[in-house]
Amino acid sequence: MKRIGAHVSAAGGVEQAPLNAQQIGANAFALFTKNQRQWQAKPLSEASITAFRDNLAASGIESRHVLPHDSYLINLCHPDAEALEKSRRAFVEEFSRCQQLGLELLNFHPGSHLQRIPEEQALRRVAESINLALEQSEGVTAVIENTAGQGSNLGWRFEQLAAIIDGVEDRTRVGVCFDTCHAFAAGYDLSSREGCEATFAAFEEIVGLRYLRGMHLNDSKKGLGSRVDRHHSLGQGMLGWAVFHYLMSDPRFDEIPLILETIDPDLWPEEITTLRRLAERAAD
Ligand SMILES: [Zn+2]
Ligand SMILES: [Zn+2]
Repeated sequence: MKRIGAHVSAAGGVEQAPLNAQQIGANAFALFTKNQRQWQAKPLSEASITAFRDNLAASGIESRHVLPHDSYLINLCHPDAEALEKSRRAFVEEFSRCQQLGLELLNFHPGSHLQRIPEEQALRRVAESINLALEQSEGVTAVIENTAGQGSNLGWRFEQLAAIIDGVEDRTRVGVCFDTCHAFAAGYDLSSREGCEATFAAFEEIVGLRYLRGMHLNDSKKGLGSRVDRHHSLGQGMLGWAVFHYLMSDPRFDEIPLILETIDPDLWPEEITTLRRLAERAAD
């Protein structure tokens, strides 16, 4: 079955997120477990944790279909020792919040070398940051997101994702979240069926589909290879519908969270319904 949802708001507390997901007809969702633009966060209260677990159970959504996203401030390959340490501490904190909530995945961007350390060194540094976080947590898988390759962001080429995974000691707790907008902006042509087939064949060969633990379903405002990260509503950008037809009709993308990060939350119920219809049509 396809598990489809959106990155919903956790305003008013993390326990609101499962309710918000339910409201849009989702059977998967993403959330921030703290303010994504601040370093500091109050620890999750017992009341909030209990309410989250209760609301999640009531929604019928399974914890493995929830894909929390970490803070945008974290840079797991920061060139400065002190800033790297701060990011690593915050990253461990993100893992422990997921663990408290009974969640199994944590989605994050690899980081930026800021043109100050060579790419290879930066990729090793990301892997080391993941190793440190995995050592200090339990039961949560590190899910690396492919990026658009904007600025000095790493993880836009499949080879970079593979290199990071290669440096992770516990491969049972590392995976990838594939963002359709980011892949297209990074130069992987998902605008046709043939392009999708070629892209996922390359992903299988270089990274391995066994590492695919989630996806972000977004159209793109910018063109193929633009290296610019601008999401759009489904079918309204440069990607068009081909990739979503492709994904919905392929059982390799069953049972992982498929998350909309499209720009108009008012359209989420409709986007989810449309995707479900595509999946049903394919199953007929
Ligand atoms: Zn992301
Ligand atoms: Zn994304």
